[in-house]
Amino acid sequence: MVFTFIYCNFVNCNRKSRIMDISQTEIQTYLDTPIFRLISDAADEMQLDCYVIGGYVRDFFLYRPSKDIDIVAIGKGIDLAESVAKKLGRHTKISVFKNFGTAQLKYKDYEIEFVGARKESYTHDSRKPIVEDGTLEDDQKRRDFTINAMAFCLNKNRFGELLDPFGGIQDLENLVIRTPLDPDVTFSDDPLRMMRAIRFASQLGFDIYPETFDAISRNKERIKIISKERIVDELNKIVLSPKPSVGFVLLEKTELLELIFPEFVALKGAETKEGIGHKDNFYHTLAVLDNISQNTDNLWLRWSAILHDIAKPVTKRWDPKLGWTFHNHNYVGEKMVPKIFNRMKMPLNEKMKYTQKMVSMHMRPMQLVEDEVTDSAVRRLLFDAGDDIDDLMILCEADITSKNPEKVRRHLRNFKIVRQKLTEIEEKDRVRNFQPPIDGNEIMEIFGLGQSREVGELKSHIKEAILEGEIPNERDAAYNYLIKKAKEMGLKSIK
Ligand code: ATP
Repeated sequence: MVFTFIYCNFVNCNRKSRIMDISQTEIQTYLDTPIFRLISDAADEMQLDCYVIGGYVRDFFLYRPSKDIDIVAIGKGIDLAESVAKKLGRHTKISVFKNFGTAQLKYKDYEIEFVGARKESYTHDSRKPIVEDGTLEDDQKRRDFTINAMAFCLNKNRFGELLDPFGGIQDLENLVIRTPLDPDVTFSDDPLRMMRAIRFASQLGFDIYPETFDAISRNKERIKIISKERIVDELNKIVLSPKPSVGFVLLEKTELLELIFPEFVALKGAETKEGIGHKDNFYHTLAVLDNISQNTDNLWLRWSAILHDIAKPVTKRWDPKLGWTFHNHNYVGEKMVPKIFNRMKMPLNEKMKYTQKMVSMHMRPMQLVEDEVTDSAVRRLLFDAGDDIDDLMILCEADITSKNPEKVRRHLRNFKIVRQKLTEIEEKDRVRNFQPPIDGNEIMEIFGLGQSREVGELKSHIKEAILEGEIPNERDAAYNYLIKKAKEMGLKSIK
């Protein structure tokens, strides 16, 4: 690799001239790989002009390794793909989509998509364009952003030539997302591009060009023609970006957020009564989300951060003695999660259940440090959280957004104590994945009982005694305790 700068430096640094300086020779060196040579040969043999285009070219300049390669041929993309597949050998997997005029093939861990250059026009009620054959420029015009419209020629006589008709390089230099054509037309034609603009801004740390931004605001209602699945796909990319608040603030400012996720917007605002205010839960949530994003790439843990306080607006009360209260917002929030997931077409499976659990438990470790960190409280936390305990601790630490450094230090110190205790107690009592030392079947055998209320009660006595630390999590101790409790209930062992 020729380049010496790294991506994160690039995005944050002032070395603006670097991209402009990249020469065609450097591009040629980069493209000088067996696969591009092979595509180049195939295209020359077929006398087709051929280009690598879009995300792969953008990511080359951003030094982001990319495994998706889009190839555009001026002519039949499918024919070129078939010729390339032939050259690669008979084991090459090729999928042809005749209706779309595209073909995909896998080469090593690359996904290569071939398409003929096309010209697109749209009708008002659909994001599906009317498509006809076109020139390279037509094809570049149909691309969403200037930074996504650049192409490298692959034909031998122009190998590595950059075609950048809309100033994509300049926009990469300036860290700007901008549409190649009139942004009102671009966004109205395919409103998903509004989400994509914000997603790229969030992923790359770029700004949205003012006219492009204004057009998103103007066309926001058009998002309604986009499927929920596509919207959430982009939203998840925002959630997974390095600093997701960048994307969410843009969604809020353009008022798209109100249309796709109104519960989140409802967190906005800080009311004051009798001189007592509460924090703005929208910005607090964004701070929690950014905090957690430094410690996890787990999409559902990040969603748990987004949703942890989601019920604060509906549970908010003014109490003359206590001030602002949000009683049970964690439990109400837990109930809101399935409704939100369902409406936004997110999975209604164990991922949703995990998010619910995080939302419902998000205050537990904090309550624990605010009271006293007793062994039994830690044991109960471990029991209830099970294998999700580490994630819950990550969420709780991210939730510390106080501006008072002393308070932050104190909380973090206390969390350290909780973490130590969690480890100690888990080593001793193994309650993280609690398996009762004596199970229901055994209880039935010992006392000659069928399935009954008594069996449940005895099981729960044993569990409670272990969690309270009355007895260790061991069979003998549990057995003796069981006999004692059964006696109190008037039951006798028949063994
Ligand atoms: P990522 O791989 O991060 O999703 P990408 O832009 O590299 O982003 P694709 O979404 O596969 O990858 O898109 C590939 C290219 O196709 C883009 O770079 C852009 O040129 C074009 N493109 C994709 N979606 C659209 C769209 N909705 N409107 C116009 N052009 C698009």
